[in-house]
Amino acid sequence: MASDTPVKVSRPKIQRLPPLPPAETVYHRIRKRVHLICFLIFIALPFFNVMRFDIPRQRFYFAGFELWINEFAIIFFALMFLMFLIAASAILYGRIYCGYACPQMIFSEWSCSVENWAQKTISRRFPRWTTKLKSIAAMAVWWLVLGGTSVFLAYVFTSYFVEPRDLLARLFHFDLVTAGGITGATVTLITFLDFALVRQRFCTTVCPYGYLQGILQDNNSLLVVYHDGKAEQKVCIECGKCVRVCEMNIDIRNSPHQIECVHCGDCIDACEDVLRRIGRTGLIHYAWGEVPNPGKREPLLRRLGFRDAKRVAIIAVLLFYFCGLVVALSMRQPVLVRIAPDRTTLYQVMADGRIVNRMRIKVANRSGQPATIKFWIEGLPGAELVLPHNPVILGPSESFEQTYDLRVRPWPGAQDVNHFRIVAQAGDAAKPELFDMTFVMPTGPRER
Ligand code: SF4
Ligand code: SF4
Repeated sequence: MASDTPVKVSRPKIQRLPPLPPAETVYHRIRKRVHLICFLIFIALPFFNVMRFDIPRQRFYFAGFELWINEFAIIFFALMFLMFLIAASAILYGRIYCGYACPQMIFSEWSCSVENWAQKTISRRFPRWTTKLKSIAAMAVWWLVLGGTSVFLAYVFTSYFVEPRDLLARLFHFDLVTAGGITGATVTLITFLDFALVRQRFCTTVCPYGYLQGILQDNNSLLVVYHDGKAEQKVCIECGKCVRVCEMNIDIRNSPHQIECVHCGDCIDACEDVLRRIGRTGLIHYAWGEVPNPGKREPLLRRLGFRDAKRVAIIAVLLFYFCGLVVALSMRQPVLVRIAPDRTTLYQVMADGRIVNRMRIKVANRSGQPATIKFWIEGLPGAELVLPHNPVILGPSESFEQTYDLRVRPWPGAQDVNHFRIVAQAGDAAKPELFDMTFVMPTGPRER
């Protein structure tokens, strides 16, 4: 006889897996945040004149200063500082710049992400489409996004060499005639092809930094190193995840010195993620030189990369150029005045008896504000410097270089060669500049 009482089925008790140990390395997440910061810096540098080389106007903008091409000392220190910054970064931290800060890497990875996103989105939204149609649609979306982004990136990149507002006006007028417009269009096309077709291949074929790194790094540089762990009984389980995540398509287990490796650390995260599921720690690490030493606490300076005298020396040289740059910038005068006698003719005698010496005057307003420069003569009685205007008013970045007459009526006691001084003062607050000169006169007037 059938009973209505439900039969109790005894189910096996679900065994909950032990929780995963916390992930120890999160380089991918850190790297994406650094990418975002670097992207914002890449955009900000030309717009705030932090670093920009204006080719049409022949100006170098650095840290907000508008430097003229003839300001050799500052440009020398700035270039040497940047050069040693790259060298020091390569010697101490290997290819960290490539993985974490290089615009080529940032946008190549971004391009790959957009391509994947477009494929997944089209497949999810249009499941009935044929595979071929989905692939064409995904590519169209990807290229559309890439096209718009290429225009923006090309605009930012060209702004490093052409004034950004001027360039924007050309962009809105679809200027394909002037040099700036043609440059912008060419850079857009190159950017599009780069991020559509080349991407990370650029790092291993065209970019010289990878080759330079091979020369600069040594046994104390930061590397990504695989440690087989045999001594600690934690061998590789051959899951291959470290190879699958590598954007450069290499196997870090073969060598830490592969030129393709950009030290991004994604394989470190991958290995850590796999092995922690079976209660082990990863086999790939950032390490100073080839010998990984995870877990061992070292002094702070060694952990920051100062591991031998060579590294201290290169940081000292870097500091030297940095200090030189700071001093050169602090001594910089926003208004440049140069005065020299023009001795093509020693002197001229005018019809009214006045004597003329000619002076070559160069004035350049290197600031972003209008400047007023006043000139006067000391030590030459009744002298007249024949400028079209005195004070001279110059707009931002304006300059002139001309030869002007300095006229004097002979005075009792005048010599053949008379020492005097031209004083130039830019603005009321500025300290006047003094130019000690000589005024040449014929002996005749003095004898008369
Ligand atoms: S081997 Fe590792 S660190 Fe090197 S590029 Fe590939 S994922 Fe990045
Ligand atoms: S991810 Fe780690 S465990 Fe997996 S293959 Fe690479 S090194 Fe071996």
